Amino acid sequence: MNYRVLGRTGLRVSMLGFGGAPLGSAYGPTTQDESTAAVRAALAAGINYFDTAPYYGATTAETALGRALVGVPREAYLLATKVGRYGLDDFDFSAARVAASVDESLARLGCGHLDLIQVHDLEFGHLEQIVAETLPALDRLRAGGKVRFIGITGLPLRALTVVHAHWPTDTVLSYCHHCLHDTTLADAAPAWRACQSGVINASPLAMGLLSAAGPPAWHPAPPALKQACAAAAAFCRARGRSLAEVALQFALTDPPADTTLVGMRTTEEVRLNVAAAAAPPDLEFIATLQKRFAPVRNLTWPSGRPENN
Ligand code: NAD
Repeated sequence: MNYRVLGRTGLRVSMLGFGGAPLGSAYGPTTQDESTAAVRAALAAGINYFDTAPYYGATTAETALGRALVGVPREAYLLATKVGRYGLDDFDFSAARVAASVDESLARLGCGHLDLIQVHDLEFGHLEQIVAETLPALDRLRAGGKVRFIGITGLPLRALTVVHAHWPTDTVLSYCHHCLHDTTLADAAPAWRACQSGVINASPLAMGLLSAAGPPAWHPAPPALKQACAAAAAFCRARGRSLAEVALQFALTDPPADTTLVGMRTTEEVRLNVAAAAAPPDLEFIATLQKRFAPVRNLTWPSGRPENN
C-alpha cells in the first residue's frame, strides 16, 4: 500500500481509503460479521483511513464501523466522519446540532477523538451559515480536543470552492468528479491545494455506476450517463475485464487527490481493490474506455440548493 500526506494535516493516509457508506447498507443489505471482516481485511492490507457519517444507514454505518474496530489500537487507523446531514432531506448545520452530533458519533465509534470532522454535503445548506456558524462550531470542538482536523464535503465543486475561499479547511472531499467519465476534480483541486488543504476523492466507481452490477435504484445520475456506464460494463465483460477494476486504476493513476475512498462491503471487494491498486494500470484500455465516454464527458446531476449548483 502506498501512503501520502493529507495536505497540511500531516496525516499519513493510505492512497486507497475505506468508504464506509456500504456498512450502512447503502448498496444492499449487509451484516456486522461481513462489515467486521471487510474492515479487518482492509487494515491487514495497509488501509488506515476510514470514512463514515451519521447519515449512512441512519447511524448504523458508524455503529458497525465502531464495532468492527473494537480491540484495534486507536493509533492503527484514522477516523473521518461528518456533521450536518442526517437523512435524505434532513439537514441541520446549526452550531448546537453540530456539537451534539460529534458527541453522538464519538459514542457510536467508541473513541475519544475524531481525526477529521467534515461538513456533510454543504450544498444543501446556506453557504453563509456554513462559513459563519458551522465551521466556527467545529473549530471550537477542535480547540476542545474532540476533533483534530476540519473538512468540507459535497458534489458541486463550485460550492466547495466558494466555502473554501472563505474558510480554507484542512481538507476538501469531492465525490464522483474523478472517474473515467468525469475529470473535473483536477480543475478545482489546485485552488484548494494552494492553501495546503488535503484533497479526498470519493466514489471512483461513481457510486456503483462503474461496476458490472450497476448502480443502486436511488442513484441520481441522468439516464444518458446510466446508459453509457451500462454499455461500458458490457464492453468490459465481453473482453473479460472488470469495469470496476479499470475505473479504480484510472482514479489511482496520478490522482489529483491524496486519498481515494472506495465503498467496500465485503472482504472480496477489499481484496479486489487492493489488488487493483497494486497492479500496473492498463493505460491503453483506460484510454479506450474514456473515448467511449466522450458523449457524456463530465455529465453530472444537480445536488442541493439550486443557487449552490
Ligand atoms: P463507490 O464509487 O466507491 O462505489 C461503491 C460501490 O461499488 C458499492 O456498491 C461497492 O460494493 C461496489 N464495489 C466496491 N469495490 C468493487 C469492486 N472491486 N467490484 C465491483 N463493485 C465494487 O461509491 P461510495 O461508496 O458511495 O463512495 C466511496 C465512499 O466515499 C463512501 O462509502 C463514503 O465513505 C465516501 N463518500 C462521501 C460523500 C460525501 O461526504 N458527500 C459522498 C460520496 C461518497
